[in-house]
Amino acid sequence: MEKKNIDWGELGFSYIQTDWRYVANYVNGVWEEGGLTAEADVVINECAGVLQYSQSCFEGLKAYTTEDGRIVTFRPDLNGQRMEDSCKRLEMPVYPKEKFVEAVIETVRANAAYVPPFGSGATLYIRPCMFASGPVIGVKPADAFQFRVFTTPVGPYFKGGVKPLTIRISDFDRAAPNGTGHIKAGLNYAMSLHAIVDAHNQGYDENMYLDAATHTKVEETGGANFIFVTKDNQVVTPKSGSILPSITRRSLMYVAKEYLGLETQEREISREELTEFAECGLCGTAAVISPVGKIVDHGREICLPSGMTDMGPVTKKLYDTLTGIQMGRLEAPAGWIQEIG
Ligand SMILES: *Cc1c(COP(=O)(O)O)cnc(C)c1O
Repeated sequence: MEKKNIDWGELGFSYIQTDWRYVANYVNGVWEEGGLTAEADVVINECAGVLQYSQSCFEGLKAYTTEDGRIVTFRPDLNGQRMEDSCKRLEMPVYPKEKFVEAVIETVRANAAYVPPFGSGATLYIRPCMFASGPVIGVKPADAFQFRVFTTPVGPYFKGGVKPLTIRISDFDRAAPNGTGHIKAGLNYAMSLHAIVDAHNQGYDENMYLDAATHTKVEETGGANFIFVTKDNQVVTPKSGSILPSITRRSLMYVAKEYLGLETQEREISREELTEFAECGLCGTAAVISPVGKIVDHGREICLPSGMTDMGPVTKKLYDTLTGIQMGRLEAPAGWIQEIG
């Protein structure tokens, strides 16, 4: 198959339209048979539930080329499960996870010419999403929905090398206790836009959100979970009901324990404890792990011993091991790699 004429190394993280997407509609209480279409634009009524009351959720994962030339994705079944969970919390019809995985595979296969070659560092980002297409004016769930999977090629995350991030503790909250922080709802992002624009204006790369009730415990950033490394090499991650369960973070915790023999813990992490850690990283599909060099708590600078030029040693090992599994250099646990072709 002939690849598209794209300068893979120069790609950033922005939408580039590819040839095919998968669409299925929910009408009269059932999911109609879905399929591929070339039509990238969506036409919906002005009163559609997604436009009025933000009834929508999404997922994000990547397809890439392994060292030996196979196109694969990483644990798409977990994205499918998470979208089921999001749909239930948002009163949207569940799109079954098995069909979700099939739709992902079909969409990537159709856009294989856009899957960047091994070694380019670029990947094909996959965006499954669901939104209320039916009209609602009274506040209630819509009665028509669309499930859609589209793709866009994205560039290497660490273009020009790794640069540890400077983040600030935010006074804005991301998620309420018993709210929607644990699901991938579009609305969680709408309300974080002001906080991230403000952080950027103040010279910070990201916001560290604390628990909304007490502002004493670490939660996550707008789109990535935290992992910390203690001075005695334990890998710890915050436990909270309002954190989005990152598939990357869950995979890294497994890798820490089972591949690297490190002690791991998911527990509450207090704001006061931040000065105690040796390393800190943000984990998510986009970067796998992005190292944090500095955390600013209202003028008080907390500098991680790992510094502002490189990943810390444990973060680096975690990064190398997980990307090794993803790229086919290391043997993957059963079921982690989904072959596309
Ligand atoms: C998507 C997302 C993550 C990262 O999850 P991955 O499955 O690792 O990509 C973390 N936090 C939030 C708020 C997210 O929406």
